[in-house]
Amino acid sequence: MIEMQDVWKEYGNGVAALSGISVRIAQGEFCYVVGPSGAGKSTFIKLMYREEKPTKGQIFVGGFNIERLRERQIPMMRRHIGVVFQDYKLLQPLTVYENVSFALEVIEASRKTIQKRVAEVLELVGLTEKANMLPRELSGGEQQRVGIARALVNKPSVIIADEPTGNLDPDNSWTIMKLFQRVNDRGTTIVMATHNRELVNSVRKRVIAIEQGRIVRDQERGEYGYED
Ligand code: ADP
Ligand code: ADP
Repeated sequence: MIEMQDVWKEYGNGVAALSGISVRIAQGEFCYVVGPSGAGKSTFIKLMYREEKPTKGQIFVGGFNIERLRERQIPMMRRHIGVVFQDYKLLQPLTVYENVSFALEVIEASRKTIQKRVAEVLELVGLTEKANMLPRELSGGEQQRVGIARALVNKPSVIIADEPTGNLDPDNSWTIMKLFQRVNDRGTTIVMATHNRELVNSVRKRVIAIEQGRIVRDQERGEYGYED
């Protein structure tokens, strides 16, 4: 499902962010990515949805050879990979409904399909009542649930999340985690970079730890393993 083979990433300024990453994540797995700040977690995540390109190595996600994709194939690939961000990245002038329907409109889904699918995902994240509100009228937890609805609307086989609970309090973090678990229970692969020790230690899943650009630990039902 997700595979990296000897992946290296050096940024333009010479910073070596990842140094020889090889990993396989099977369809349906739930995998946390942990490690200190600056370790390379975000870079690892960004390579998976082609926000960054590797300096060297091969990356496969959901059947796409990510580093070989042509620019015009990227939108198609992103329909199969849902991405959730720490800062939500919602379109501020658009309503909740519009933020979620946007991804379906660009693929020219029928009006009926759009209405049905948006209603389904808003129901799933518990925001049916807030469909016509603007992002700034919502709490942080609600905004992140919109971000998750948007990521899910195309029924991706993989959800990639970079610190999705990083701006949220513990209760909202739990709500987000429970949503991810439900999505994962339905067979969607989840890769989640996180600093949330409570979540990692209470909901045991695979843990990949990255330090200084290398995988230093890879455990089934692992633990957070850092004090911060
Ligand atoms: P983490 O998510 O674990 O905090 P990052 O992947 O963001 O780590 O960063 C890994 C290293 O790459 C850090 O040294 C960081 O400063 C550097 N880095 C990240 N993004 C860029 C960039 N766009 N340009 C240059 N260096 C970067
Ligand atoms: P709901 O929102 O459906 O009422 P709860 O928030 O009460 O559900 O919690 C559902 C599950 O998540 C429970 O099993 C509970 O133990 C666990 N949980 C909720 N909040 C925390 C927390 N802060 N720390 C550890 N476990 C939690």
